[in-house]
Amino acid sequence: MAMLPREKTRQVNVGGVTIGGGAPVRVQSMTCTRTTDADATLAQVHELVDAGCDLVRVTLPSREAVESFRRICAESPVPIIADIHFDYRLALCAIDAGAAKLRINPGNIGDWSRVDAVIDAAGEAGVAIRIGVNAGSLERSVAEQDGLTLPEKLVDSSVRFVQHFEDRAFTDIVLSAKAHDVPTTIETYRSLSRELPHIPLHLGVTEAGTSLQGTIKSSVGLGVLLAEGIGDTMRVSLTADPVEEPAVAWGILSCLGIRRRGPELVSCPTCGRCQVDLIPIAQEVSRRLQDVTSPISVAVMGCVVNGPGEASDADVGVACGKGSALLFKRGEVLRKVPEDAIIDELFREIESL
Ligand code: SF4
Repeated sequence: MAMLPREKTRQVNVGGVTIGGGAPVRVQSMTCTRTTDADATLAQVHELVDAGCDLVRVTLPSREAVESFRRICAESPVPIIADIHFDYRLALCAIDAGAAKLRINPGNIGDWSRVDAVIDAAGEAGVAIRIGVNAGSLERSVAEQDGLTLPEKLVDSSVRFVQHFEDRAFTDIVLSAKAHDVPTTIETYRSLSRELPHIPLHLGVTEAGTSLQGTIKSSVGLGVLLAEGIGDTMRVSLTADPVEEPAVAWGILSCLGIRRRGPELVSCPTCGRCQVDLIPIAQEVSRRLQDVTSPISVAVMGCVVNGPGEASDADVGVACGKGSALLFKRGEVLRKVPEDAIIDELFREIESL
């Protein structure tokens, strides 16, 4: 696939994890536990890191959560991003508590003096800020402008915020401008990458829905942009266990050949030629591959039409026949195995790699 070269944005350091400027596209997600419950939140941070998050965002919704947030920052294995809405004083608390980055929507922080207090404190502490513009919470002066499309409003708002931050000599900026629909997302981020080519972009389709719909919307929206070289960090938003989010993000990056984590399963859709019960076999192989982190390829194919070709191209593969399968490893036929032993024999060879 012909990929456009990745846009060269200004690099931002978030607690030792770089975003933009040629760094790998960073995967992030957000906890959904109560921030006041540090144990539960840290447990979820660890789950998200195990699932592939480079960074994790945690909401700081109240003063009562500050001490717990401080402990989360101190004990997290990855830098923590504080999610702040409305109250600029909580942004100041988050900086003091050890956040590596803030996510704020300047439009809901209040007057510029409050935003400036956050910018100045972050600048002094070396804390990055994501300006998170959202279609659902555009500031009124932009939302009420006649004659502008939603992408134009999102871009207009973003450009004004970035200019304000830069006028104040703050440059550790990451930018997002999210909408819940895919065409708006694509048009908005394409414009942002043209208007603000130096600013690292955080990609996401917000409020994308439950697992299947959210995966489809994120894959199409973020996939198009990433294939065009746009985007420096990403969050897949699902109404689901957040641990599902990095898996989808990594899937998108792997499909595009941008970043690879874990195995790739090649399996056929089955048809009238297939003479084994392939679907449960492929599903079980897929489930067991979730425990494998190395970037191997595994093929599970239903018959001899495409089976031997795909199975021999994969690191390990099977091409099924009548009640049995030929087992391949790195292009060589190893042996014939009965249908009820396909999965175990496949994993015996995967473990030996
Ligand atoms: Fe059908 Fe064989 Fe192709 Fe699978 S590999 S879809 S069983 S023809």
